[in-house]
Amino acid sequence: MTEEFLKPLEEKTLAEKLFLVRFKVDSASHLILDKEVCWECGERACLSVCPTEVYKWEEGKKEITVSYEGCLECGTCRIACSEGAIDWRNPRGGFGVSLRFG
Ligand code: SF4
Ligand code: SF4
Repeated sequence: MTEEFLKPLEEKTLAEKLFLVRFKVDSASHLILDKEVCWECGERACLSVCPTEVYKWEEGKKEITVSYEGCLECGTCRIACSEGAIDWRNPRGGFGVSLRFG
């Protein structure tokens, strides 16, 4: 792992970059979807833009699940959702992401 760790950021794989991030997970989600809007949404851009695959379509439940625990707080999904269906908030103080060695 040491060699991977010392590589410049632009040469790191996504998995190596994610290793640098520390998650302090809150008990409540900071990402709330309007399920009715999502149900009607034809685009579902949130499923493809998130770098950590927070959103997943559950065929059995016919809804999107939100694994907010892995959110990098980049805000991409909020912009990509043309329906404005994501109530996107910053995690509460003391929770969310930080860099391990930053
Ligand atoms: S893009 Fe927006 S409206 Fe569509 S499924 Fe995702 S969160 Fe819901
Ligand atoms: S803010 Fe970024 S990491 Fe978090 S759910 Fe949205 S796209 Fe994924």
